[in-house]
Order: sequence, then structure tokens, then C-alpha cells
Amino acid sequence: MNDAMNFRGKTILITGGSRGIGRAIALELAARSANIAFTYHSRVEAARAVEQELQALGVEAQAYQADAADFEAAQAVVRQVRERFGALHGLVNNAGMTRDKLLIMMKEDDWDAVLDTNLKSVFNLSKAVVALLLKQKQGGSILNISSISGVIGMAGQTNYSAAKAGMIGFTKALAKEVASRGITVNALAPGLIETEMTEGLSAEYRAKLLETIPLGRFGTATEIARIAAFLLSEDARYITGQVLCADGGLVM
Ligand code: NAD
Repeated sequence: MNDAMNFRGKTILITGGSRGIGRAIALELAARSANIAFTYHSRVEAARAVEQELQALGVEAQAYQADAADFEAAQAVVRQVRERFGALHGLVNNAGMTRDKLLIMMKEDDWDAVLDTNLKSVFNLSKAVVALLLKQKQGGSILNISSISGVIGMAGQTNYSAAKAGMIGFTKALAKEVASRGITVNALAPGLIETEMTEGLSAEYRAKLLETIPLGRFGTATEIARIAAFLLSEDARYITGQVLCADGGLVM
């Protein structure tokens, strides 16, 4: 199959698509002819701009305001996507946030916010999307954007590491539940990627982190997007329940 046509006629829903890795995945899939539905949390102007960028690539695109951590809001988004696009073929659970602190400094709210946004959101969206995919009887793909923090743990990120490790357990359990219906579920665990999430890191901390990356650099959102596109594509139909670290060799 021509790679550029890989996703023609398919619709993929991405959470947190207005910037960073989510936006890059949306653009990569649209370049391969996918129609894109994406959620955004608060920046309506950024979301509208991405919607236009996607439409300029010749695909259908629609942004939906929703807090991915809100169960009812997530169900409503999936209902609206079905009404607007007719069918759904894939989901990327990308919405995420950090609130880095040492455990002894961490407040209950820091724990709850990070677990809700990174992990409960995955339950919220996946539940609604799996119900729809089962009804459609055409299989589908779910991709969870975890992190190497969920694989090896990072100091100052007990909340985030727990949430991202939780995503990995969720990925493997759901993969086993839905494999017989032709639905694949995988996790992508990026290392350090240049986005708003990492731009606040101090020069000193960045230099220290770089020493731990064999390839000697941070990754880009586009690099992650290309791997995501592969895992969502027909070329990856025989891969499920896997965690792929894209981290310049950090976890080896
Ligand atoms: P980012 O901060 O640029 O983007 C995060 C996205 O999530 C934004 O679009 C934001 O609006 C959305 N979001 C946050 N809270 C939300 C909520 N409650 N409801 C809906 N959307 C919400 O960061 P990014 O680097 O693009 O991160 C994307 C994903 O990749 C996240 O899950 C993050 O944990 C993961 N990740 C990032 C890195 C990195 O180094 N940048 C590394 C590993 C994993």
C-alpha cells in the first residue's frame, strides 16, 4: 500500500492535539490522508489553528474542547466524533501533564491531577472508543503515549511515573481483552522530547540528562509522530500489547 494513502477513509481521535506531540501526530496522520478529531483543554485559538493546518492538508478535521480527565466529557466527545465522522478507526491517548516534586513535597492535589490527566483519561476515552470499535466490527488501533518515566522511574516524578507505568499495565490488559476483535493496543514511551513540557528544564539539568542519552540529543515531536503513525497503521497489525521506547537509547 502506498504509505501516503495508508489512512485514507479512516478517522483517528487524538487527545491533547493542539500542541506538542499530539499536534505532530495529527499532522503526520493527516499527511497520510487520515481524518482527524482531536481534543484540546483550554487553548481554543491554538486548537483552531491546528484544525486549519490539518484541513489545508485536504482532510477533515475537528477540534473538541474537553478535559480528558472528565469521564462524561470524554464520552460526549466520542459520541460527537461518531456523529460527525460516521465511524472511528483509532485513538491516541496523548493528553498529559507533569507536576514534578519530590514525594515529601508533593501535595495530594499534585498526585490527583497528574493521575487523573495521564491515567484516568486513558480509561475514560478508551472505554468509549472500544465500545464503538466493537459495535463497528472492523477492528481498530489504540495507542497510549506513556513515557520512559513509567518504565524506569524518574526522581521527582512519583506521580507521573506511576501514571505512565499504569498506562503500560492498562495497555497490556486491554490488548488481551480486545485482540480477538482485531483491535490492537500499544504504548509508545518517549524519552526527552523538545516540547512545551520540557522547555522549562534548566540548562544544567538538560546537560545532565543529555549525558544519559546514547544518541546525544533530545528527540523531536515529529520523530515520535512517525513512530505513532506506524503503530496505528496497517503495517503494524501484528503488533499488540507492546511498549516501544523512543528515547535515543536511554532505556537499554
Ligand atoms: P505538551 O505539554 O506540549 O502537551 C500536552 C497536551 O496535553 C496539550 O495539548 C494539553 O492541552 C493536553 N492536556 C493536558 N491536560 C489535559 C486535560 N486535562 N485534558 C485534555 N488535554 C489535556 O507536552 P507533550 O510533550 O506534547 O506531551 C504529550 C504526551 O507525551 C504527554 O502524555 C506526555 O506525558 C508525553 N511525553 C512527553 C515527553 C516529553 O519529553 N515531551 C516524554 C515522554 C512522554
